[in-house]
Amino acid sequence: MTSRLTGTVALVTGASSGIGAETALALAAAGADVALVARRRDRLEALADRVRSLGTKAEVVEADVTDRAQAVGAVQQAVTALGRLDTVVNNAGVMLLGPVEGAPVEEWDRMIALNLQGLLYVTHAALPHLLEAAAGSRATADVVMVSSIAGRSAQAGMGVYNLTKHGVGAFAESLRQEVAGRHVRVSLVEPGPVATELFTHIRPEVLEAGRSAFAGTPLLQAGDVADAIAFVVTRPARVVVNEVLLRPDGLA
Ligand code: NDP
Repeated sequence: MTSRLTGTVALVTGASSGIGAETALALAAAGADVALVARRRDRLEALADRVRSLGTKAEVVEADVTDRAQAVGAVQQAVTALGRLDTVVNNAGVMLLGPVEGAPVEEWDRMIALNLQGLLYVTHAALPHLLEAAAGSRATADVVMVSSIAGRSAQAGMGVYNLTKHGVGAFAESLRQEVAGRHVRVSLVEPGPVATELFTHIRPEVLEAGRSAFAGTPLLQAGDVADAIAFVVTRPARVVVNEVLLRPDGLA
């Protein structure tokens, strides 16, 4: 069946779990061939089988995008294997919460390395290919940044995660202005809490201290965010959805 993304190629970072895995499936269901980028190859291989069962191609790209050479290599592998690049979903991210006072600074380094530097490396390497795709007959290409409601406001105990996601928003807006005239659409998708592995990396003492705040928090499903991303990148070329903020019903 031909659909909006048939004949296009998407690259999704952080495709081995959560929002990234569901996004890869959603884009494949819309017809895209998909490059699946993350570090856990076994997860990517299993996902690739599911993508192929939808009738599109999948390329497994084992890469740590915090390493610039690997990020560049990931984009190159995708283009070499699948022939072009129309859509990049910068989704890989980590959320290590806790107060600034006494924080293990290596957690900050990890968030900055992945949520900011990894996203920058992938975007920089992908941009020439996206501009080339957008100059073609389809007349559009997409960069989606998975930010967060944590990129809209700040909360105690989330400072460095807030810093990274606010930074993603600022970078997205600046890049949008640079490439808008050349038909590359830049979009920010900002979910509230989603039921994924993201929370499992938080230190137990931080989780314990926040237990009452987290308890009963309504959650989105990863597929809900994937639906939003698929919506953004399947609009007609004349339509640009620059920002989508999603909250689970019941979240104040
Ligand atoms: P997950 O923990 O399920 O997914 C994170 C993904 O990032 C995994 O696929 C992981 O794969 C990948 N990843 C981690 N480190 C690297 C690395 N160095 N190089 C390449 N890939 C890496 O969490 P989510 O799906 O929830 O998170 C996806 C995005 O959504 C993040 O940017 C997060 O900030 C954002 N978000 C999540 C919310 C939530 O409540 N869950 C709410 C708002 C935004 P692997 O370990 O195999 O490398």
